[in-house]
Amino acid sequence: MSLPLYDAHNHLRDERLVSQLDDILEHCRSVGVARMVVNGTSEKDWPAVAALARVHNLIIPSFGYHPWYVRERSNEWKQRMEAFLDEFPTAIGEIGLDRWMENYDLPDQERVFTTQFQLACQRNLPITIHCLKAWGRLHELLKELPELKRGFLLHSYGGPVEMVKPFVELGAYFSISGYFANERKARQREAFKQIPDERLLIETDAPDMWPPDTLNQFPLIDPDTGKPMNHPANLKSIYQWVADLLERPVETLARQMKENFERLFGSG
Ligand SMILES: [Zn+2]
Repeated sequence: MSLPLYDAHNHLRDERLVSQLDDILEHCRSVGVARMVVNGTSEKDWPAVAALARVHNLIIPSFGYHPWYVRERSNEWKQRMEAFLDEFPTAIGEIGLDRWMENYDLPDQERVFTTQFQLACQRNLPITIHCLKAWGRLHELLKELPELKRGFLLHSYGGPVEMVKPFVELGAYFSISGYFANERKARQREAFKQIPDERLLIETDAPDMWPPDTLNQFPLIDPDTGKPMNHPANLKSIYQWVADLLERPVETLARQMKENFERLFGSG
């Protein structure tokens, strides 16, 4: 029997996956994927995330406004998000701060971030956070905001190793993706070794963040562009890679991941 695996972050509703979705989900089930958090990133994709979650019970839907898209938001974005959260009181994300993107407007990103954070506090929901080149500011902001009892996930943590502890103290979980198996990501692998066992999670971020070839057991191609994509069933090889990185049996790691995932996202 395969170990139950938990994908803390992906984008299964991505347009590029739609035509192959049934096969993709079958492969996920065949390797033991028990549950996955499927993130919405703007008003445009929330309806599709909800539609998937109504049909597939391994999906935990998450609704958020990603910093890349906040500029496109409508005046009713908050009410729209609340309507989805009324139906699915599961999670908020992907939200965040990004100073890597072109022409970023950090004060505007912070306004939308704060509104969503407060919603999570009111509804006692976990949050998934994307952060690029804004770790110091994110930490300041989280310190000013009320405590989020459920905790929050820093997905694909790419921040400095010294900030692991301060974020842990604020309630952070950290998810690692197979992308960090790339040669040049040695510094980040060291940061992941500093994360307390009970705060670590594993993600694919599929269809993005594809891992090196050795972990890419389910090659997937975007039919429109011919470009390779990351398959969420690669989660199994990513688990094995993380177990090797942390020098422990994959069974021990898998038990810990299940506990952590259920503590943060609920046991459904
Ligand atoms: Zn993402």
